[in-house]
Amino acid sequence: MAGAMVTAGANRRGTAGRGQGGPGWTFVELLTVMVLVAVVVVIGGLSVYRGQRTSEQLACQANMRAIHSALQIYWEKNRDPVTNEHTYPKTQDAFDQFLASPAYFVDGELHCPQDTDRSRHYTYQYTPHTPPVPGDVVITCPVPDSGHGSM
Ligand SMILES: [Zn+2]
Repeated sequence: MAGAMVTAGANRRGTAGRGQGGPGWTFVELLTVMVLVAVVVVIGGLSVYRGQRTSEQLACQANMRAIHSALQIYWEKNRDPVTNEHTYPKTQDAFDQFLASPAYFVDGELHCPQDTDRSRHYTYQYTPHTPPVPGDVVITCPVPDSGHGSM
């Protein structure tokens, strides 16, 4: 009876000794692994976020290039009623109508990928030269601070 109790006590001490210095995981080791996993997760998340930003930026710029191309067709088809010269849309309103026109955009109006509710129109600035050149037209991403810029 007394011998059994001594044996049990010795086992308990032995287990505690292995836990601190042997093959088991100490608190510091676990903490180190958790910190490393957290760092990997954060770095992975950041690169996914950057990838999304880059692909959105490219998609937005592709939209702006497509709008520029469609504007060339608009220019061919439309003439100023007074001067009878070819013309781009003269105002943002006229540009919005052009963007919404199935004659130019078969799949519907183009939207910035960051404009999730698709409520905003690309903004438009027309500063005509004579004769007009594509550089007279500046189209800007409608989502503020998106970094998508103008062209
Ligand atoms: Zn954009």
